Amino acid sequence: MSVEIRESAIHGQGVYANTPLRKHQIIAPINIIREITEEHPLDPEKGELYHHCHWYPDGRVILTGEPYCYTNHSCDPNVFLYTVNGMSYVFAMRDIAAGAELTLEYSLCNFDGEVWECRCGAWGCRGVHHCGFQYMEKSRQLELLPYLDPVIVWYHQDYIRVILSEMA
Ligand SMILES: [Zn+2]
Repeated sequence: MSVEIRESAIHGQGVYANTPLRKHQIIAPINIIREITEEHPLDPEKGELYHHCHWYPDGRVILTGEPYCYTNHSCDPNVFLYTVNGMSYVFAMRDIAAGAELTLEYSLCNFDGEVWECRCGAWGCRGVHHCGFQYMEKSRQLELLPYLDPVIVWYHQDYIRVILSEMA
């Protein structure tokens, strides 16, 4: 495997590259444990954690497994998710050196609107993270638009259409 889990300077445990990764290289699919439903809710006794779940705009909630459930957020990320037909793949956003922590901008692959204090340490850190593409600064939205997960593009299609028509 080209990654390992270890203690992160950002938060808890993180995912680290074992080998150099090339820009736009597909790193791996996300490991799916199971779908969380009302009939089969999370079982904390089995170590199933709320923050290892991925919420899809169609209402499905998927429990993700190691290693990528440990991917931390950064306001200056180096990987992104590409979700198609219920499967999410991790791609390198740029060249990544061996030993670097892999980080996602959560607003590119979530839409939950959760607000939390960000301590990612990146230059340009938003400080208070309001999770959702619509809450990012417009210049940043345009910069990161190519890395927006297709399911989130679908979710925000009317909004994206507006910002693109303003640009064109
Ligand atoms: Zn940050």
